[in-house]
Amino acid sequence: MELKSLKFLTNLRRENRQFAVIGLGRFGRAVCGSLHKLGYEVLGTDIDEKLVTQALSQRLASHAIQLDSTEPEALKEAGIYEMDTVIVAIGNYLQESIITTLNVKEAGVEYVVAKASSEIHGKLLRRVGADHVVFPEHEAGCALAETITKPGILERFELDPENSIVEVLVPEDFHHKTLAELELRNSYGVSVLAVGDGEKFSINPDPRQKLSKGLVMVVIGCNKDIQRLPL
Ligand code: ATP
Repeated sequence: MELKSLKFLTNLRRENRQFAVIGLGRFGRAVCGSLHKLGYEVLGTDIDEKLVTQALSQRLASHAIQLDSTEPEALKEAGIYEMDTVIVAIGNYLQESIITTLNVKEAGVEYVVAKASSEIHGKLLRRVGADHVVFPEHEAGCALAETITKPGILERFELDPENSIVEVLVPEDFHHKTLAELELRNSYGVSVLAVGDGEKFSINPDPRQKLSKGLVMVVIGCNKDIQRLPL
C-alpha cells in the first residue's frame, strides 16, 4: 500500500546516502528500484550483462555495471568501496554471496546488508562481517501473517527484531476518545508519536486531542504490545 503519509517514516532515515546493490535478481531489482524511486543515488551490478542493461532501461538504478563481485579489483574499479551502504542480493549462490560480503567488508564499507537463503547462510554472512542479514522469504511470510491478522496496520518500520514504529488506522474502540483517556502507555505499553489525516501529521499530539475513525496514528512500541492493540 502506498500512502502519502509514509513520507513521515521515510523522512526519519538519513539523507545523502550512496548505495550499491550487488545481484539484480528479483530481490536486488526491488531494492534497487525502491531506493532509486526514493531519490537515492544507487549503483546496480550483476555478473549477467542482460540484467544490467535491463536495470538501466527500466530505470531501476542511477548507474549499472556488469562485474563479477567475487573479484575485489572489479569492485574497487566500480567504486563500490566508496559507497556507505552495500546490499549483497545474491541468495542462491552461497560461495559468491560469502566472498562478495567478505570483499566489501574487508575493503572497509561501513554498512553491508546481505540476503540469506537459509539459517546457516545467515550465520556465515555474519561471520564474514555482514552488519545486517535479511531473510526476505521468511520476513515476507511473517509480514503477511501480521497483515492478515491486523489489517489496521498500514506500515511498519522495524527498529530491531523486537521493536517497531507502525502507522495504524485509528481503531473503532478509540473513536471520540482523547489520548489522555486512552492511556495507551499504561494499557498497552506503546506511545503515540504523531496523529494525522494521511496528508499532514501533528507530532507529539496534544493528549486532549480527540481521535476519530479515518485518522492515522504513528505508534512506537514492542511488537507484542503493538499486536495487542484493537486494530
Ligand atoms: P531472488 O529472485 O530471490 O533474488 P534470484 O534467483 O533472482 O533470486 P539469486 O540467484 O540469488 O537471484 O542471484 C541474484 C543475482 O546475483 C543473479 O542475477 C546473479 O546473476 C547474480 N550473481 C551471482 N553471482 C554473481 C557474482 N559473482 N557477481 C555478480 N553478480 C552475481
